[in-house]
Amino acid sequence: MRLFDRAVVRVLPAVPRSVVRRVASPYIAGSTLDDARRVVAGLNAEGMRATVDVLGEEIARPDEAEAIARAYRDALAAITEDGLEANISIKLTGFGLKLDEGLCRELVFGLVADAHRRGTFVRLDMEDSSTTDATLELYRALRAAGHDGVGVVLQAALRRTLSDVEELAALEPSVRLCKGIYVEPPSVAYQGFDEIRTSFVACLDALLAGTGHVAIATHDEWLIERAVERVDGVGSGRYEMQMLLGVRADRARRLVADGHPLRIYVPYGEQWYEYSLRRLQENPKVAGYVAKDVLSRLVPRRSA
Ligand SMILES: Cc1cc2nc3c(=O)[nH]c(=O)nc-3n(C[C@H](O)[C@H](O)[C@H](O)COP(=O)(O)OP(=O)(O)OC[C@H]3O[C@@H](n4cnc5c(N)ncnc54)[C@H](O)[C@@H]3O)c2cc1C
Repeated sequence: MRLFDRAVVRVLPAVPRSVVRRVASPYIAGSTLDDARRVVAGLNAEGMRATVDVLGEEIARPDEAEAIARAYRDALAAITEDGLEANISIKLTGFGLKLDEGLCRELVFGLVADAHRRGTFVRLDMEDSSTTDATLELYRALRAAGHDGVGVVLQAALRRTLSDVEELAALEPSVRLCKGIYVEPPSVAYQGFDEIRTSFVACLDALLAGTGHVAIATHDEWLIERAVERVDGVGSGRYEMQMLLGVRADRARRLVADGHPLRIYVPYGEQWYEYSLRRLQENPKVAGYVAKDVLSRLVPRRSA
């Protein structure tokens, strides 16, 4: 990332929310479930699947966790009602993992049972490394209770991930593999760009050598190419490519045109701000976008 872009990333939290909202709008379906339905239907029409994420990570009270669970139940109902090719992705902290683990379990078991009745699927997103053990443990508990329509996420940046792949193998798991977005200490995570890529490929090879399903979640061209080489000859029922809404949409279309199953991560909800900051901080062109937006507000547009 260029120096100017890095500087803008640092000051992003000071950028007015209205500017962040406008610049980040491609990454978010909108504030309401109807927005998400519309965006998912559009993706489906382009041959892409979706996974719906209700935004809202930081919660302080049990009723907030219950509200997130209700929002997800509504999303599941909408997916069934509209016949959408979509599932849901959930963050356990939003369900109260750090507040009351018992409540979190109860809400997630209830949601997964609802998804099961509807014949759809729930992905447990992976958060920072303080939640890895608890997330994998809940995943195992769900599978032990006979819920097969549930998957988990592993982060290539974490040093433990290759052994997590091995330990999960007997479950024939559904794993989304991504680099990992959280800042972690060197004792826990690889820090170098190339080290993380190497780990990603090693974990991908181990997952493909197993018998579960692999969702390959990356926009990194080098990794996409390594993945495409590796899935050649692997049945399309064993893998899918995954990308975030608004990121490298042309590349996503090309993957679909080449016959790869592909799913787009579709976030929606009122709590768009933190998610938007994360996406903007990863966007190599962030400075240009923010500057353009600020300038267009300062310089009045000429009427056509
Ligand atoms: C479907 C999906 C689900 C995910 N789930 C999780 C999860 O549960 N837990 C977790 O920790 N992380 C998750 N992530 C995030 C992931 O860990 C990475 O932080 C993120 O994908 C960036 O890594 P990358 O592999 O795309 O490579 P990068 O090297 O970061 O990006 C590669 C290239 O993609 C383009 N690009 C990337 N981001 C942007 C952007 N915002 N705007 C414009 N261009 C961009 C740029 O050209 C960049 O050079 C998920 C990612 C995806 C795609």
